Amino acid sequence: MGEIIIRQILLGDFEVFTYLVACPNTREAAIIDPAGEEEKLLAMVKDEGFRVKYILNTHGHADHVLANQHLKTALSVPVCMHELENEFFSQKEVRELSAAELGLQAPDPADVGLKDEDVLNVGTLEIRVIHTPGHTPGSVCYFVDGNLFTGDTLFVGAAGRTDLVGGSLDMLVDSIEKKILPLPKETVIWPGHDYGDTPTSTIAREMEENVYITDFIL
Ligand SMILES: [Zn+2]
Ligand SMILES: [Zn+2]
Repeated sequence: MGEIIIRQILLGDFEVFTYLVACPNTREAAIIDPAGEEEKLLAMVKDEGFRVKYILNTHGHADHVLANQHLKTALSVPVCMHELENEFFSQKEVRELSAAELGLQAPDPADVGLKDEDVLNVGTLEIRVIHTPGHTPGSVCYFVDGNLFTGDTLFVGAAGRTDLVGGSLDMLVDSIEKKILPLPKETVIWPGHDYGDTPTSTIAREMEENVYITDFIL
């Protein structure tokens, strides 16, 4: 048993973190939030000898799904996001608002609609889906082997915007309190953007320093 393989790649104008997460034993892998630069991502997958099984989105915002369709076709793998996100971004008025807010087209529906507590097997890894609504209705975090991929729910030292369509600060704070803080304190946080003074953190550190936690919850 080796250690889980995680590659953190900063991509695009929105400075989104894309992740490659792979099983050390089988090199089966998932891509989390492919945010562009498809050829670079495909080259990395090839160089590392990964066999991608899933494209996973933390949520449907356009900047996090930019390379979904290209990679889905190139790799013949399904795109997965929370089922509420599929519903939400299928509404005409939501699509129009979101496109106006972000300047990019809203996402196509995912192939697989995930639910809270779903488990996805990637090699010997078990990736657990944790529904954390607030930034968007169907935002999720992915928990695997002591690592939490938080998308725009929780950043290093901050949390996601709630002023975009479908956002709710109350729900976001509730998700952080009830879904993230109960995880082991040494859990490593892998955020959706490079907004902090370090690219990763831990739940323990965020409980000390993140104002969304220190001021709104603790
Ligand atoms: Zn977002
Ligand atoms: Zn984002």
